[in-house]
Amino acid sequence: MAHWIFQDEHHMFRKAVRKFIEKEIIPNVEKWEREEEVPRSLYERMGELGYLGIKFPEKYGGSDSDIITEAVLIEEMAKCGSGGVAAAIGAHTGIAMTNIWKYGSEEQKQNYLVPGIKGEKISALAITEPSGGSDVSAIKTTAKKSGSHYILNGSKTFITNGVNADYVIVAAKTREEPVHRNISLFIVETDWEGFSAGKKLKKLGWHASDTGELFFDEVKVPEENLIGREHEGFLYIMENFQFERLSMALGCVGLGELAIETAKKYSQERIQFNRPLSKFQVLRHKMVDMAVDLEKARNITYRALYLYNKGEDVVTEATMAKVYATEMIRRVTDQALQIHGGNGYMMEYDVQRFWRDARIQSIGGGTTQIMNEILTKRLGIIS
Ligand SMILES: Cc1cc2nc3c(=O)[nH]c(=O)nc-3n(C[C@H](O)[C@H](O)[C@H](O)COP(=O)(O)OP(=O)(O)OC[C@H]3O[C@@H](n4cnc5c(N)ncnc54)[C@H](O)[C@@H]3O)c2cc1C
Repeated sequence: MAHWIFQDEHHMFRKAVRKFIEKEIIPNVEKWEREEEVPRSLYERMGELGYLGIKFPEKYGGSDSDIITEAVLIEEMAKCGSGGVAAAIGAHTGIAMTNIWKYGSEEQKQNYLVPGIKGEKISALAITEPSGGSDVSAIKTTAKKSGSHYILNGSKTFITNGVNADYVIVAAKTREEPVHRNISLFIVETDWEGFSAGKKLKKLGWHASDTGELFFDEVKVPEENLIGREHEGFLYIMENFQFERLSMALGCVGLGELAIETAKKYSQERIQFNRPLSKFQVLRHKMVDMAVDLEKARNITYRALYLYNKGEDVVTEATMAKVYATEMIRRVTDQALQIHGGNGYMMEYDVQRFWRDARIQSIGGGTTQIMNEILTKRLGIIS
């Protein structure tokens, strides 16, 4: 949908991405969902087309475009109809590589960002542990300095791209205290001794994305692979959450459009009581409500995007966008499924996938409850 935030170059980019997705992703979605992963060739192809490096500098193989261009890619990826495919690519470009781009050394950028942008290496970001999801400060993985190395011990869970990644950005405790100043980020190559990944975790949705448990048993990480400054990892994680949350909201806007279009088409084709479903006022009003809900999410999200693109602190705006859009997509996909009746419950109809994939959005990247906790502070409700 045309919106003032997008300029001509964004419209052109959207057209090109959409064509690529229609031709090279959508026909493969069912297969990748069954295989519970996307092939390496997808990263390579997207790297070749420049889609993995939109916001990264040209000197590392990126195209140095604005975040609004990246937002177009995120929305269109969501519209491929498989949250898993979008998550696999998004975790690589949006949440993992971003850490190297923002805080990494030149050597790290050459070794990890450059091949990541080309799609030759796949990355993941590993923060969550059995002991700490919402409470990042509760993680137990440790990194102890030993000469010119750190020795990592511990485990991670629910890591997107965890099974197939070539390198993982790992959050580990580098000292006991003070809280929030005791975590560091490391780049760990997955073929290093002591690293292992469990089997792909079985999930309700996001089937095309591999989600793994990671184990670190005395993994020797060279000190050159510490990202940024020691003990500052918690701050980096919090800073990056702004874009992660914004991108999740953008994905929900994209999927919301697709879900409403799918329900609209179905309601115009399905005949009951001698007329199409769309002729029943209760159903067409339901679709109007869905569209209004989506529009609210879109505007809250685009405002955060606009400010973020200008370089402003958007913790409040991005958090609100994450809360509203991720709850909106639960309502909208649920209603879209309802409009499909029994067919909506059948695996051969895409709408069931939208509904399953939507469920993670208000959990991953910080739950709705945690977002509300952040907002209570940002809005001055509690200090
Ligand atoms: C498919 C999938 C992919 C993921 N990908 C990644 C990834 O790539 N990298 C990564 O690091 N993590 C990843 N995660 C982890 C995800 O970020 C966490 O699951 C999420 O942050 C919630 O943490 P938790 O599961 O430990 O839930 P918990 O923290 O145990 O929360 C359980 C419930 O308690 C509520 N709760 C907790 N604390 C509070 C509080 N203070 N006030 C009110 N309510 C509270 C929560 O809202 C939730 O409803 C992924 C998860 C999934 C399911």
